Amino acid sequence: DYEMGKRHGLQMINVMNKDATINEQGGPYGGLDRYEARRQLVADLEATGNLVKTEPHTLSIGLCSRCGTVIEPLLSLQWWVRMEPLAKPAVAAVREGRIKLVPERFDQIYYQWMENPRDWVISRQLWWGHRVPVWYCDTCGQQTVSVETPQQCAHCGSGTIKQDEDVLDTWFSSGLWPFSTLGWPDDTEDFRRFYPTSVLETGYDILFFWVARMIFMGIYLTGKEPFHTVYLHGLVRDEFNRKMSKSLDNTVDPIELGEKYGTDAMRFTFATSSTPGQDFSLQPLRLEAARNFANKLWNATRFVITKLGDLPRDASSLVTAERLATEPYTLADRWIISRYHRVQMDVDRLLGSFNLGEAGRQIQTFFWEELADWYIEIAKVQLEGDEQRQRLTRSVLYTVLEGSLRLLHPYMPFVTETAWQHLTGGALGKALIIAEYPRGDAAALDDQAERDFVQVQDIVSGIRNARNEMGVEAVRWVEAIIVAGEKAATIEQERASISRLARVSPEALEIVESLAEKPEGATGLVAGTVEVYLPLAGMVDVAKERARLTAELERTEADISRREAKLANESFTSRAPAKIVQGERDILATAQTTAEKLRTQLAALG
Ligand SMILES: [Zn+2]
Ligand SMILES: [Zn+2]
Repeated sequence: DYEMGKRHGLQMINVMNKDATINEQGGPYGGLDRYEARRQLVADLEATGNLVKTEPHTLSIGLCSRCGTVIEPLLSLQWWVRMEPLAKPAVAAVREGRIKLVPERFDQIYYQWMENPRDWVISRQLWWGHRVPVWYCDTCGQQTVSVETPQQCAHCGSGTIKQDEDVLDTWFSSGLWPFSTLGWPDDTEDFRRFYPTSVLETGYDILFFWVARMIFMGIYLTGKEPFHTVYLHGLVRDEFNRKMSKSLDNTVDPIELGEKYGTDAMRFTFATSSTPGQDFSLQPLRLEAARNFANKLWNATRFVITKLGDLPRDASSLVTAERLATEPYTLADRWIISRYHRVQMDVDRLLGSFNLGEAGRQIQTFFWEELADWYIEIAKVQLEGDEQRQRLTRSVLYTVLEGSLRLLHPYMPFVTETAWQHLTGGALGKALIIAEYPRGDAAALDDQAERDFVQVQDIVSGIRNARNEMGVEAVRWVEAIIVAGEKAATIEQERASISRLARVSPEALEIVESLAEKPEGATGLVAGTVEVYLPLAGMVDVAKERARLTAELERTEADISRREAKLANESFTSRAPAKIVQGERDILATAQTTAEKLRTQLAALG
C-alpha cells in the first residue's frame, strides 16, 4: 500500500493514534478502535449503496512477537543514517582483501547488500539502549546534538532543553563493539594494544546486521578496519535438520545438554559437526560419542599415569627428533612419534585455513585409533621389557599424551586441563590453557617407520579378522606363520606386540622370509606384501569344525535342490509374479555362493 501510494504521489495521511484508535484525521470514525472503525466503514458503504461486494482475501500481516497483536504501519519521524558514504569504504575493505570472509562465497552476499545500501533508520521506541544524543529546546525549538550532556541550548542558550526519548537501534550499539569495549573514544592502553583486532567469529545470519556495521563503523570512527578475518559458522538445527524455533518447540537448552553429556562433549560436538558457513543438525548420537571420547581421554590418561613410575615430568623426559636418532626406540615408538608430529602439522594447516571441524576430527582419530587403540596397547608389552625399554616407552607415552592433550585443549578445555595437571604435576608449566600450542617438528617425521608400522597393523588386523570369521574364542592363543620377505627383520622387531595384540602364542609365532611350500590345513591371508598362514588346528577343533561345516553344507545343498526344482517348474515361473520369481532366483544364487564358501572351508581343513 505504501509503495502504491508513493507511485501515485498520494498525500501521506496518518489516521491512527498510538493505541490503534482512529485519530481526528479519520473524520466521523475518529476515536473508534481500529476494528470497530473498519466494521463501521463497511456498514456505512453498504448503507449508502456504495459497497460492490465483500470477499475473503489472504494477505500477510505483521504480528507482535511477544503478544501476537496485529501490527499497523504508522508514519512517524525517525532518525536515519545515510549509508552510501559509509558503505563505500566498507565494500572496498573486502574487495581489496583487507578483510577476508570465510567461507569466501559470502563476499557476494556482502556486496549485494553494501553496494546498494538502503538508508538506515536508527531510532527505536524502546526503554533500553543508547539514547539518541539530541536535545530539543523549548524556547527556540532548535536541536542541540552533543556527546556530553549539554546544560543549555546551543542556539539560544536556554536551559529548558529535553533529550530525545528514543534509543539507538541495537545494531548501532553492537556495531561499536570492537572498539567501545576497549575504552574508545578515550585513547586507552587497551585500545592501542588490541585494536584493530584479528578474527571475528559469528553466525552467517548476522553478516549484515552486525558484521557489516562493525566494519563501516570501525572505518568511519577509528579510520581502521576492526578485524582482518570474519569466520562465519553455520546454524545449529535439530536432529531432523529442522530450524530450531519456539513454535516447533524443538529448541535445545545448552545448560541441559551440558548436564547430560558434559560441557566438553557438547563443545567438541559443536566444533566438529560443522564446516564453515554450513548449517548442521545436532545429533544425540554425536553427543554420546563425544562423551565417550571424553571418557576415553580420561581413562587413557589415568592408565598412563599409573605406568609412568618415577619418570621426571619436566621437559627432560620429552622425546625430541634428536633423541629419536640417538636412542634405541622401537618401530612402534618411532611410528607414534612420527604420526604425532604429522597430526600436529596437519592440524596447524587446518586451523590456519579455518577448517576447525576437520582439525578436531583428526585429533580425535589420532588419539583414539592410533594412540589409545595401538600404541598404549603396545606400550603395555614394551613395559615388560628391560629397564631401558621401560624408560624409553614411558618417555614416548608421556610425550605423546601430553602433546595430545595440548592439541585437544581448545576443543575439550576442562577435561584436558584436569588430565594435564594430573599428568604433568606442574612440571611443564602452570596450566594447559597458557601452554604453547603444538605445531609439529618436520625433523621428527619418519616415513619409513609409518609405512612399516602400517604393515604390522595389517598383520594384526588380518589375524583378528580371520579369528572372528572362524569363530575362534577371544581367549584362545592361536598359531601363525608370517612370510614377510625383505620385511622379515622389521616385523621381527614387533614380534612381542603382534603376539599379544593378535593373541598368537609366542612359541607358535613364526616369522620367516619365505616358505618352500604353502602349509597344509591353514587359512591364508595377505597383509600388504606379507602373507600370513594360520594353522586351523591351532584355531579350532578340526573334527568338530568339519562336522559343523558338513552339516551346514548338506542343509544348503538341500535348499538349493528345492529351489532349483521350483524354478524348473513351468507352472510356477509362468504364473507367479515376475518379482517373486526373481526373488527365488536371487535366493538361489546366494545359497550357491554359501555352498561354494563352505566347500572351500572344508577343503582347507584337509
Ligand atoms: Zn505485543
Ligand atoms: Zn534554544
